[in-house]
Amino acid sequence: MTDLRYLPDEDDVTAFSATVTEATAEYVLLDGTYFYPEGGGQPADRGTLSWDGGRADVTDVRKDHGEIRHGIERLEGEPPAEGTTVEGRIDGSRRDRLRRMHTAQHVVSRIVLDRDGAGTAGNQVGPERSRIDFEPASFDASDLEAIEERANDVIGRDLAVEKENRSRETVEATVDEGRALLDLIPASVDPLRVVEIEGFDMCPCGGTHVSRLGEIGRIEIVDRHSKGEDVERIEFELREP
Ligand SMILES: [Zn+2]
Repeated sequence: MTDLRYLPDEDDVTAFSATVTEATAEYVLLDGTYFYPEGGGQPADRGTLSWDGGRADVTDVRKDHGEIRHGIERLEGEPPAEGTTVEGRIDGSRRDRLRRMHTAQHVVSRIVLDRDGAGTAGNQVGPERSRIDFEPASFDASDLEAIEERANDVIGRDLAVEKENRSRETVEATVDEGRALLDLIPASVDPLRVVEIEGFDMCPCGGTHVSRLGEIGRIEIVDRHSKGEDVERIEFELREP
């Protein structure tokens, strides 16, 4: 089992050392990693692994039966032997964008839940653009303007973002309906990592997040589509703080 070291609250670490447990010319497994593996509507981190006598680009990171598989390309030298110490370097600007995007998604999801009573049915964050599907919802231009304005007001309050593990029982008792798809998280996952925006929102989430809302910058809603009778998709981008 690879130790997912960014959890619960080291989302800012982008350089680390770890020990190889298995490696081929296609992938590397480590005893622990700070690379984010694709999942939960967030793409994987990218970066590099280097070791005495070799290096490789990390282009794909996935969970695989409890292991985190670092897919590699442009391998130089031989794959590292089991027990080798490697230095991991995560592409920090991409990680930063994804952190800002993912916390922005939580802000918008909360606002729409409170304002329109619509839950988040799905989401996909990306380094350039992100999207959220709301259900049941139907928005017009004035709704989008109001949601964007409220989101930027909340960001302007620079609220703290806490990340910590809580027992599943506690999370089930305290999370608002529409802010968690708990049925999709296997019952064996306990405790759950939660992301709480001070006095504003709490939900279980394993994604990477900023520490204060002010880091997000400004949200701009750039598009919307109907995705079926009751589902509305909002797309947004971020402008620099
Ligand atoms: Zn999330």
